[in-house]
Amino acid sequence: VRKCLNCHQVGDLTVWHCEKCGWEPQKKAEMQMFAPELSGITESYDPAWYQELFILESKNFWFTSRNRLLEYFGHCYFSEKGQYLEIGCGTGYVLKMIYEKFPKLRVMASEAQVEGLIFAKNRVKGNVDLCQMDACSIPFQEEFDVIGAYDVIEHIQDHKKVIRQVYDALKVNGIFMVTVPQHMFLWSQYDEVGCHYRRYERGELEDLLRDAGFLIKRTTSFNALLLPMMIISRWFKKDKNEKEQFDVLEELRLSGIVNTVLSFILKIELALIKLGFNLPMGGSRVIVAQKR
Ligand SMILES: [Zn+2]
Repeated sequence: VRKCLNCHQVGDLTVWHCEKCGWEPQKKAEMQMFAPELSGITESYDPAWYQELFILESKNFWFTSRNRLLEYFGHCYFSEKGQYLEIGCGTGYVLKMIYEKFPKLRVMASEAQVEGLIFAKNRVKGNVDLCQMDACSIPFQEEFDVIGAYDVIEHIQDHKKVIRQVYDALKVNGIFMVTVPQHMFLWSQYDEVGCHYRRYERGELEDLLRDAGFLIKRTTSFNALLLPMMIISRWFKKDKNEKEQFDVLEELRLSGIVNTVLSFILKIELALIKLGFNLPMGGSRVIVAQKR
């Protein structure tokens, strides 16, 4: 059900208009704007990256491998039909995969930056409901069967609030799938310039999810086999570049051969994950949690 973001009344909003207080979200480019005050604020994410990211994502091993992993977990844990929400969909690279591989789900996606939503709309080209929203203030209660947030909550200062809001917006037994960057010892300028508030330690996010009432169904590191390379690359880069000139997308521009090799390594890793191994360390972590 829909929730009024002004008076928090639940249930009466058959259209986006609160019977009790009169609140209704603004609309821009056919999209509901639930948090117009956030759009254009670059504190958490700089919309200037979208254009290049949009092109890099479809070729870069990191994004293609993450999609393979998320698709696998989706087939393991998502309900076949129902309502799906992605929080912080960016330019819609994961969203397009979900829309195509899980055709029976009704797909909705949100993003704080309108620029991202416009890229996402052009990318997905299908029946996906897009809205501009603050993940700390989700205008739904017990609405979704699945919610996904892929490398999003590290961009948000109050991540506990996001988790609580996700919990409220899920139906009972609903699934929350989340990916985050892992290990503070990998903290680098990529995180600083990339507007991350943190990388998560092993077990940290699981504890927060449990505190909110979730049951952890599966948790594993990924990008584990790339860890030695990441350590070398990040330590080597330390103090080399000034923050002002630092190019956050540099790491994603790879030659074809490097991309192919790294992609192959991560296919081996995915095979291990499919066999049931939970990898203890890695550049990222994926968690599948269920609302009790
Ligand atoms: Zn209201």
